[in-house]
Amino acid sequence: MDKKQIPYKIYLSENELPREWYNLRADMQNKPAPLLDPATHKPITADALSTVFCDEAIRQELDDTTRFFKIPDIIRDFYKMYRPAPLIRAYCLEEKLGTPAKIYYKFEGNNTSGSHKLNSAIAQAYYAKMQGLKGVTTETGAGQWGTALSMACAYLGLDCKVYMVKVSYEQKPHRREVMKTYGATVTPSPSPDTVVGRKILAAHPGTSGSLGCAISEAVEVATNTDGYRYVLGSVLNQVMLHQSVIGLETKTALDKYGEKADIVIGCAGGGSNLGGLIAPFMGEKLRGEADYRFVAVEPASCPSLTRGRYAYDYCDTGMVCPLAKMYTLGSGFIPAPHHSGGLRYHGMNTTLSALYDQGLMEAVSVKQTEVFEAAVEFARVEGILPAPESSHAIKVAIDEALKCKETGEEKTIVFGLTGTGYFDMLAYGKYNDGLLTDYAPTDEEIEKGFAGMPNIE
Ligand SMILES: *Cc1c(COP(=O)(O)O)cnc(C)c1O
Repeated sequence: MDKKQIPYKIYLSENELPREWYNLRADMQNKPAPLLDPATHKPITADALSTVFCDEAIRQELDDTTRFFKIPDIIRDFYKMYRPAPLIRAYCLEEKLGTPAKIYYKFEGNNTSGSHKLNSAIAQAYYAKMQGLKGVTTETGAGQWGTALSMACAYLGLDCKVYMVKVSYEQKPHRREVMKTYGATVTPSPSPDTVVGRKILAAHPGTSGSLGCAISEAVEVATNTDGYRYVLGSVLNQVMLHQSVIGLETKTALDKYGEKADIVIGCAGGGSNLGGLIAPFMGEKLRGEADYRFVAVEPASCPSLTRGRYAYDYCDTGMVCPLAKMYTLGSGFIPAPHHSGGLRYHGMNTTLSALYDQGLMEAVSVKQTEVFEAAVEFARVEGILPAPESSHAIKVAIDEALKCKETGEEKTIVFGLTGTGYFDMLAYGKYNDGLLTDYAPTDEEIEKGFAGMPNIE
């Protein structure tokens, strides 16, 4: 019998595109801890959030009991331009590795933003539009979120102001121009245009910026500008909710061919893509219907799960956002420049943090050079040039497949290929020239980040 009964690419039909997002929190017995008001340290109310976020976004953020949220037709129609995304069987990689493992990856790079981020960008922009707003503000690290949001805003006719982490603004001029092409205003962060930006510049002259700091700037501008709200590309539970479309499609595709995942792997920046990918599988695990291993992969230079603390912390450097109980390195932690801009956030989504704390998910950290090695190995056999962020998941998927080679186990490994790396050629260039270095913060540097955390039980 032909070994390759399952197609290289499993495409779903438009009809199989999910009609609802799945809210994993509804199936958790031990829910993530509530967001706290930074002023009172009491659970935050929808009212207090309403100057920052859109009303529907707040409703989704605070709801940890409703299992399914209908995907509005306009969003679902937009999804049809680039979804359902294919689930790809990595036959070529399996052969190259000589592993008995079956490897699948869900490819989210099939749109101009080059990543999964468009899934939530269109949803958040839509809710802003429905509320009659003029525009939205946001931060972007690597630029994928800013690109996705500018695409969504252009589609819906909304203004889009992006604060881009300075190091990426300089390293990725092409990303910047894609955003401008879609009509967004892009400002390097920290900038002298905001109170918080000026404060950070004074305290750390010459800083390369951080996501936490860009968030503070974007929030300040949103709350001070009439008709604007702030939107965020990851970390929040509403974003993870929108990203559940990734996991739901993956599950439908596997079920269609009678395949059952053993291990689900994803890279973890703020946690939304991983949370979205694992959501329906984790739901089954929580309900006792099936068992899976889940692995979060993070960079050694920004190890929030593997070396962070599970505690309430500020979500942004300027301490204007609500406090979240999460695995964190401290909002003052500024990771060393590193080529996975999308994985530089100091904290982690509260749902994933709770699951990790409850022992339902594993986490590993990997070094930059080994990530690029895996990226190149993957690119040469599977064709797709992966984003450095996604390559964190590739690295661990390869490691797991090689373990299967040793033990002879025929495990099914599923990982999220969150995006493409066309805008990361500077990083690939450094790798090709042997100039890429590894960096992990010392214990002292980590302690410094912890020192700035609030003391809340
Ligand atoms: C933003 C980004 C990530 C990180 O995603 P999170 O949902 O924040 O964990 C991973 N891969 C790519 C390609 C990205 O653009």
